[in-house]
Amino acid sequence: MKLGENMVSNCDFCDRTKFEERIIAEYNDWYVVASLGQIIGGYTIVIPKAHISCMGALASHHHDNQIESMAKIISKVSCALSLEYCKNNPAVNYPIIMFEHGIIGQSIKHAHLHFLPAIIDLTTIILADFPKAKFRELQHPAHLQELYNERLEPYLLWTVPNGKVMVCWNPPAPSQYLRIIIADILGYPERGNWRNMDPELDKKLWQETVARLKPYFRRRKK
Ligand SMILES: [Zn+2]
Repeated sequence: MKLGENMVSNCDFCDRTKFEERIIAEYNDWYVVASLGQIIGGYTIVIPKAHISCMGALASHHHDNQIESMAKIISKVSCALSLEYCKNNPAVNYPIIMFEHGIIGQSIKHAHLHFLPAIIDLTTIILADFPKAKFRELQHPAHLQELYNERLEPYLLWTVPNGKVMVCWNPPAPSQYLRIIIADILGYPERGNWRNMDPELDKKLWQETVARLKPYFRRRKK
């Protein structure tokens, strides 16, 4: 494999052959991929092609408007998941959860955002687990990057069902923390750690996820 300037050898997300079968959509700067360790069907991750440590570091690594491009991809994925998996929940503003292990809890050291079609609010659990950590509600699309550039601290990020985005700075969270609490809430604690999930079941679920979501990303011909 030829390594570009932003690619890192031995990084699972810099090497597309590691997840090629699971690609739902590909853009100039992003992959949309069915996650390994499908806690529930529809579990999708968004990976920037550039090797960056977390989404907070995005602005400082790019000349063009990467924040705007990130907001667009978030909206596309959220929309596809809502339409495909949450048709019966019109009352909730945000019938999916998005989260990020902003370095803390990451098991692959290359930024990625997680999306699940589930209506969950993790805020009370995270508050109870890390009572000393600082919490912040994000106010606009570039807010995470602004705060991260000031603080340069790792973080956890998650959305709540009313559409707000929350950040918790530098909590002493274990690896895969957000995955593990979500798997617990959804009744599949054995799927919390993606490395331990039954590979046959996982493959069946991610294949379904790819097949169900791909049609939402087909590009219209000009
Ligand atoms: Zn990488």
